Amino acid sequence: MTQQAQSPRSTSDVVIIGSGIVGLACAWSALREGATVTVIDRDFEGDRASHGNAGGIAVTESTPISVNGLYMKALKWLFDPLGPLSLDWKHVPSALPWFMAFRRAGNKDRFREISLALARLNDRVYDDLIPMFTDIGAMETLYRRGALTVYETDDAFAADQREWAFKRELGVRWRAMSADEIRACEPSLAPVFRHGVFLDDWSHIGNPERLVTQLRERVRQLGATFVVGRVKLLDLADALAPAAVTDTGERVKGRRLVVATGAWSAALAESIGDRVLLDSERGYNTTLPAHGIGLSREVIFAERRFVATPLDIGVRIGGAAEFAGLTAPPNFRRSDALLALGKRFLPGIDDTGAVRWMGHRPATPDSLPVIGRSPRAPSVIYAFGHGHLGLTQSATTGALVADLLANRTPGIDLEPYSISRFRN
Ligand SMILES: Cc1cc2nc3c(=O)[nH]c(=O)nc-3n(C[C@H](O)[C@H](O)[C@H](O)COP(=O)(O)OP(=O)(O)OC[C@H]3O[C@@H](n4cnc5c(N)ncnc54)[C@H](O)[C@@H]3O)c2cc1C
Repeated sequence: MTQQAQSPRSTSDVVIIGSGIVGLACAWSALREGATVTVIDRDFEGDRASHGNAGGIAVTESTPISVNGLYMKALKWLFDPLGPLSLDWKHVPSALPWFMAFRRAGNKDRFREISLALARLNDRVYDDLIPMFTDIGAMETLYRRGALTVYETDDAFAADQREWAFKRELGVRWRAMSADEIRACEPSLAPVFRHGVFLDDWSHIGNPERLVTQLRERVRQLGATFVVGRVKLLDLADALAPAAVTDTGERVKGRRLVVATGAWSAALAESIGDRVLLDSERGYNTTLPAHGIGLSREVIFAERRFVATPLDIGVRIGGAAEFAGLTAPPNFRRSDALLALGKRFLPGIDDTGAVRWMGHRPATPDSLPVIGRSPRAPSVIYAFGHGHLGLTQSATTGALVADLLANRTPGIDLEPYSISRFRN
């Protein structure tokens, strides 16, 4: 898997650790600016969050997951073994600081600050994404058809009104739909939805895994060196050429190191003394290649907390938030539970050849990614923790990292995304 553009042992301008959608977007942006780039991954083609996600360009999701009033609902969900939220009790002691910070993120003022910071990223997503998609030949499979959120009950719709009004304040375009309009918009849905919200600016892609492959091949073509290795720590002893050190002792040196290892990033940040609260928020889905229904856009089922996306490779039905750490085996009964809901709300959907999947969302408690320089070492740049929005914000993260690499002032203030926020 090593490309010969330069020797892996030479010092690149940039070493990017992680070849998920975020690391590859950083590599793409850096290469386009003429930097020499090495990308390291423990397994370039192995499974990762970026391969199996729902494919949504969810630019309207500018509020954090932690929201006032969620806790009562969350408690109820926890007692439903296949509900939208689950917690492996063995994981609780190590995750406690994360959950305490999650709770603080729902505080009224903090909620507003976080939302503004998310909106600042989401507002520029298409400006960054379209040039990258155009360059890698992915524009044809960017479907700009909006998305539809549907509600079964008046109460749930009423309860979300404050958040919808706030989203409008943040610049999100949406319009309410009646039951008849929902039916006209997506005739395959069961006729049980009383309210809908149409989100004009949401879009979806054809196949997340193919997008990663397209981007990886383009990054290779632009001259990146690929090194296979599991990075276990960062070594800053040589200030001019810090190194990513693999578990076999290989030292891959670059003038700058970018940590983009998704849900696995905390250990690398901690290896140079940067504390971060990052957990895996495990999500599940099932892809139905022979679905046999007509669905034009992503549908978000508000009360049940799952989505259905009409990918090119089938309808993908998924969601769930499971906190069980990075090593526990998947519990595919969660995929099955989501599929059962999907069948209820998309009657007649065919599950022949269904493929189940679990992936690790890299989740911070405040739903903000970590983007920016290490306060300890300006040669180390972080680009991880995008939670539910890693695909959406990938190109924007790449563009911001490129600004830092070129010592330009980034287009937006990066303070809200700094790893320093985890110091206390
Ligand atoms: C069910 C589900 C649905 C989702 N839906 C959406 C959606 O619709 N829209 C959206 O925007 N986002 C969505 N997401 C979130 C999105 O998939 C992630 O935020 C995003 O893929 C994270 O990308 P990443 O590159 O940071 O991490 P990853 O894709 O996980 O890549 C991390 C990479 O780092 C490598 N790595 C890890 N540790 C090491 C190490 N020590 N040494 C070397 N290499 C290492 C891994 O091999 C991997 O290649 C969803 C996620 C899930 C789970």
